Parts: sequence; C-alpha cells; structure tokens
Amino acid sequence: MGIKIIRHGSVDTVTRWFIYYKRKTPDNTGYAFPCTEDGELLLDQMSTLDMMIYDACEFGEYSDQVELVGYLRDSELVRTYAVGKCICGEEISLQSMKNKCPNCSVVYTQLGTQE
Ligand SMILES: [Zn+2]
Repeated sequence: MGIKIIRHGSVDTVTRWFIYYKRKTPDNTGYAFPCTEDGELLLDQMSTLDMMIYDACEFGEYSDQVELVGYLRDSELVRTYAVGKCICGEEISLQSMKNKCPNCSVVYTQLGTQE
C-alpha cells in the first residue's frame, strides 16, 4: 500500500539576475547584487553588508576600484519534492529515501510506497 500523492515533485529552472561590478584587479573578482530582469535591486534579498558594498560601488569609496559590467543572468535547477497524504491524514514531504510520518510513524519510500 502506498501514500496518496497530493502534489508531484518536479525540477524547475529558476532564472535570477544580478547587477555585477568587476574589480579592477587581475584576479577577476567582483560583486554581484540580486536584481529583477529590469535591473531593479531586490533589497529584500540583500544583507546590510550587501547594501553597504552596493552603495560603495555605485556612489562612494569603491567607485574608482570597480567597473559596472552590467546585468548577469544565472539559472539554477530547483527541485521540489512530492507531498503525500499518509493513511492517518498527515501530509508528508517525500524528500528522503525513508520518510517517517510524524503522527503515526508509518515509513514511506521516496516513491511513496509503504515500508
Ligand atoms: Zn501517518
């Protein structure tokens, strides 16, 4: 007997954009800041330190040390796991080889079959 799958797992491509400043040094390093496709900074994804560095690159003390390269695109594969409903009614994410129901302790495989 198996679990009732209520949401199938998937692998999706997530595309992210960055504003990239290259340092004027031979080591090819730089600073990348998350932004939208239109180049608008995603402030909620930046730490206070990120914002300080961004300000330094854009307006201040780093401006003679870096050059704005432009926008970079980065794609990442993101896996979401299937979710099943246990015989007891609990919803379980099937993210491991063995997934134990926290409510009734039945164990399911990643494919949702009961052990
Ligand atoms: Zn259960």
